[in-house]
Amino acid sequence: MKIVVLAKQVPDTNSDRKLNLTTGLAERDASDPIPDEINERALESALKYRDAGSDVEVVVLTMGYDVTKSVRKLLSMGADSAVVVEDGSLAGADMVQTAKVLAAALRRTGFDVVLAGNETTDGRGGVVPAMVSELLGLPLLPSLDEIQITAGSVSGEVQVDGGSLSLRSSLPVVVSVTERSAEARFPNFKGIMQAKKKPVTTLSLADLGIEAGPERLGARSVMVSAVERPAKQAGPKIIDDGTAADQLADFLASNRLL
Ligand SMILES: Cc1cc2nc3c(=O)[nH]c(=O)nc-3n(C[C@H](O)[C@H](O)[C@H](O)COP(=O)(O)OP(=O)(O)OC[C@H]3O[C@@H](n4cnc5c(N)ncnc54)[C@H](O)[C@@H]3O)c2cc1C
Repeated sequence: MKIVVLAKQVPDTNSDRKLNLTTGLAERDASDPIPDEINERALESALKYRDAGSDVEVVVLTMGYDVTKSVRKLLSMGADSAVVVEDGSLAGADMVQTAKVLAAALRRTGFDVVLAGNETTDGRGGVVPAMVSELLGLPLLPSLDEIQITAGSVSGEVQVDGGSLSLRSSLPVVVSVTERSAEARFPNFKGIMQAKKKPVTTLSLADLGIEAGPERLGARSVMVSAVERPAKQAGPKIIDDGTAADQLADFLASNRLL
């Protein structure tokens, strides 16, 4: 079996993240690039299945720019190999274009299961896995909290309003997992050393048979303007002079929190 994990490189959520107000893109140098943590959880689900003795190849697929550090981390966690789609003309690619590129790369790598995150911590579009499944003509198991992979199927639970649903699909299938799915392992020393020798294939748009230039990929959303989030204002201080409870209640009521 071949499991391909879709993993996006994102700015570290624990460091300062900055938006370029001219391009609307994240300032890549402002914070450390890391693999999205939900994508690490998706990889963990694949690795757990392999650790249980299953004959499975785990491949990481990423589309991005200067992604070596993130890919190295995913390989050191245990992925067998990585495929990187890197093409300068994809800068600013939107979700439709990203899905088209990922679907083309998946057709080339082959797969039985595609594992993705239900969203990312920076873009948060939450639609790329659905678009990829549509483009590949495959079923989608969306936003699963935990997954069970077998030789012929994937199943899991998705939380919906008022309850949860158990879903199952035969293979091939596209699956997305949430931040509540398997806790990702830390790479150990052996994994870090092995990662240096694992194969990483870099593909351009030409390799995927896609003519250069994002305009060739069809519909594209355009950033119209970008505004920096205003700096946080210091909140009001409540000093307990015997009226603190009233002041607090007034504050919550005026902010419609009561
Ligand atoms: C040169 C270059 C520059 C880029 N600059 C930016 C940027 O500044 N900001 C930005 O947000 N994006 C950037 N991207 C990546 C791309 O544009 C986004 O990944 C895409 O728009 C997805 O949006 P999302 O995160 O909202 O997707 P979602 O729908 O929220 O993603 C859901 C899941 O889909 C999968 N997925 C999504 N994107 C990728 C990916 N790129 N590779 C592998 N799996 C993926 C992951 O499993 C993810 O958890 C850049 C790409 C390139 C090639």
